[in-house]
Order: sequence, then structure tokens, then C-alpha cells
Amino acid sequence: MTREEILKLSAYELSQKIREQKVSSFDAVSAVFKNIDEHESNVHAYLSFWKEEALQKAKECDEIVASTPDVSGLPPLFGVPVAVKDNLLLSGKKATCGSRMLSDYIAPFTATCVEKLLSAGAIVIGKTNMDEFGMGSSTEHSYFGATLHPMDPTRVPGGSSGGSAAAVSYGGAFAALGTDTGGSIRQPASFCGLVGLRPTYGSVSRHGLVAFSSSMDVAGPITRGTRDAAWLFNNVTGADPKDQTSAGVPKVELSEMESYSVSGKRIGIPKELLSDGNISGQLQKAADFFTSHGALVEVFDMPVLEYAVAIYYILSSAEATANLARYDGVRFGYRAGGAPEISELYTKTRTEGFGREVKRRILLGNYVLSTEHFNDCYRQAERARKLVCRAFSEAFSKYDFLICPTSSDVAPLLGTIDQDPLSTYIADLCTVPASLAGIPAVSVPFGKQMSRDGSCELPWGLQILGPRCGEQEILGAARFVERGGEDRV
Ligand code: GLN
Repeated sequence: MTREEILKLSAYELSQKIREQKVSSFDAVSAVFKNIDEHESNVHAYLSFWKEEALQKAKECDEIVASTPDVSGLPPLFGVPVAVKDNLLLSGKKATCGSRMLSDYIAPFTATCVEKLLSAGAIVIGKTNMDEFGMGSSTEHSYFGATLHPMDPTRVPGGSSGGSAAAVSYGGAFAALGTDTGGSIRQPASFCGLVGLRPTYGSVSRHGLVAFSSSMDVAGPITRGTRDAAWLFNNVTGADPKDQTSAGVPKVELSEMESYSVSGKRIGIPKELLSDGNISGQLQKAADFFTSHGALVEVFDMPVLEYAVAIYYILSSAEATANLARYDGVRFGYRAGGAPEISELYTKTRTEGFGREVKRRILLGNYVLSTEHFNDCYRQAERARKLVCRAFSEAFSKYDFLICPTSSDVAPLLGTIDQDPLSTYIADLCTVPASLAGIPAVSVPFGKQMSRDGSCELPWGLQILGPRCGEQEILGAARFVERGGEDRV
């Protein structure tokens, strides 16, 4: 197969071809690195990668395939090159989290989800760029410089897992892991025309995922197709004794996904997630698509979602404040020079080590946790979060799944997102509800929408939300959309 043909394969197809010896892992890894050589200087999707090591591993995989009489015993992702976000630890490799604070930090162990990928035979080829500690929506908040949109370098790829999305989009990896606290897998997937799955909270271990907001952080796949997303999810999910909040959840049956139909399904659209209370544009087309295939689609009220962004930013910033307290210049990470006193060392280290967005969250977190505001901010937000969970339970007693846009926008121009942090936060309206409720949600490409500046059409993502452990349902629906063919848009 030519390099172009190899790069067109899905991760799943590649794994099959490798075991059938129709494509070598070496050729697949080489093809990916050729793309990295071509695009990386413009896109900057990676913070680190290791070509020689990856090629060596690929060679070993090919030798094993050649000398194994029964290849069905080989692990599922054998020889497939994948990338992981830089807040997921891989022993012996840097894990900077896009921060100066961890710019020289070498991971002392491997995150459980990455370990699972490795034991599934994947070749992890590099670590991808991200907004510092996962805080942001554009991958512009990386200490090491922004990642640019692979289809248009004047735009952002989304964030915070923008590096993972960009790498998969330009063929710099066959699939990638991102992390999603308030939308960081789904939103960049949507901007880059990819599939991004935020799994049920706890279904993927957080051990080795550098904490941002522990009650919402979850790792998951960013892939070119729904089948790869399900397949990768199956390979990273599972209860882990090292993460007390993890639990085993059912794996996704890939064959059931293929035969899934939306006929007879009840689909809800929360009114509060629509920009002016009405369905329009691509969402209207998606609703029509489902209706034309026998589903019942209706808009319903979920009033508590009006508060979702406020609840999310109060709780995630409070948790971030606590989680980031460990970066003090004493135990690990960056240490500022010229500070003889301990309190000065803390101040200088944190002033120099953290970027602007992270500091904004720390300030917000300390504010909502302060004695004066604890009850009327943090406590209230916790109570309101319970109401969000309850509202979703009620919704799923009526609907099989919910749909809404993944983002109110397609990929914006560089520099526009940071002009007004508040409107950036508000743009997370459609992704944060699933995070608060711990439910799974997937973003699947659904045609294109005109950019806000009116200059071009860019990929638009449809978000599908399901009840806890409802991955089978939402991925089935996403596959149905994907299978719908070009005529749907
Ligand atoms: N944009 C959201 C934030 O900045 C989402 C981040 C995330 O999911 N890691 O908090």
C-alpha cells in the first residue's frame, strides 16, 4: 500500500492490515512521521515525540507478527501509532501539561489509561499540546505556544486537547487520547471535523491524569471515525484499584453499533442549549435527518441548564485551586531562583510558573472557597449540580438520547477567544452540562457551517448525550449519523 492509502485507513482497519501482513507497522509509523515532518512546523500539535524509538517498536511488532502462526492472539492495537495528551503520564517521558511549571517534569509512572493502550499493543509516538493544565478552549494557553488549526493556520483547533485533535486531523497519528473536564475532547474534535468521546465519568481511570477538576476529569478518544472511538474506549475503560472513583462499565459492541437505527427513538433537545431558543442551521438539519429516519425529535425545557456555565466554573475552579496547590517549587516542578524565604519561594515560583488563564482560575477558585463566599457560591453550586443530575435523569426517562451543538461556533480565528474570557466561558454552554452530570457525550461531524467572520465554511459537530454508561446508545446514534452519507447535509 502507498503512504496515502495507509493514511486513509482507520486505526481499526490498520490493526487488521498489520496482522494480515498487508501493511507493516513500520510503514504506518513512517507514514505518520512523514506527516509530522511536513506539518508540525506549521501546526505544532506535539510537545514531544520519539521517532527512532517508535520505528524500533514498529519493527519489533512486525517481527512478532511475521513469526506468530495464530495472529488472533495478538493484542487489539498491535503496532498502531497513537498520540496522547501531555497531561497523561508516560513513564520516563516529559509530562508538561503545557505549563512552565512542569516544563522539565519527567513522569515517574504511566497513567492507567496509557498503560492499557500499551498493553493493547499500541505504539505511543508522542505527547500532544494543550491549554495549560487543561484550562482553555483554544490551545492558545500553552506555555510552549499555540497549536494551529490544520485546515486553516489562521484559526484555533479548539482546546484544551487541541494538539490531539490537530495531530489526528493532519494524519500525525491514527488516533489520540485527550482529556475532557468541561468539553476539551468534544470541542476540538468538533472544530477539526473529528469524533470525540467524553466517556462516563469514572469509566476510564484518572490515575496518572494530571488533575484539573477531579470530579469531572476523564480521558477519552479523539478519532477520525465513530468505530475507532468505540474501539479505543473499549481498550482504555475499566475499574482501577488506583482510582477509587473508577468503575467497570459495559464495553461497546461494535457490531451492534453497525446495526443501530434511530427509528422509533425519542430524541430530546434542551431548549436552554439553543442560542435563541430555536433550532436552526446544522442542528435543524440533524433534527430533520433523525426525523426522516423514524425518530421523534422534540425540544424540551431544562431550566437548570441556564446555570450550567456558572456551576461549572465555580466548581472546576475550586477544585483546580486545591489541585494546583501542590506546585509550590518545593516538591517537584519549576522552582524560581533568587527567593531565600519560603513564602517568597512559593510566590515567585507560582507567579513565574503559571500562565494567565491558570492564575485566573486560581483566583476564582480561592474566591468561591473563601469564608465569605463559600456558602453562597461553592455550596450553592454543589446543590445546583445535583439539580442538573436530576434534570438529566428525568430527561432520560423520556428520551433515549439528547442532541445539541457541540459548540456554538466553528473554529474561530486565533487571538479572538482570549479577548473576553467571560464569553469564552459562556461558549462552553453545550459541553459543560454532561461534565457536571458525569454522563457520556460524543461529538460527531455533521457537515459544515459558515465561520462567524463569514470567510469560509468549517466542520460542525453534533453532540449526542446519553445516560450514565450509555456509550452503546450514543455511539450507535453517532455511527448512524456517520453512515448517513454525504446527502444528509
Ligand atoms: N473550556 C473548558 C475550561 O476551560 C474545558 C476545559 C477542559 O475540558 N479541560 O475549563
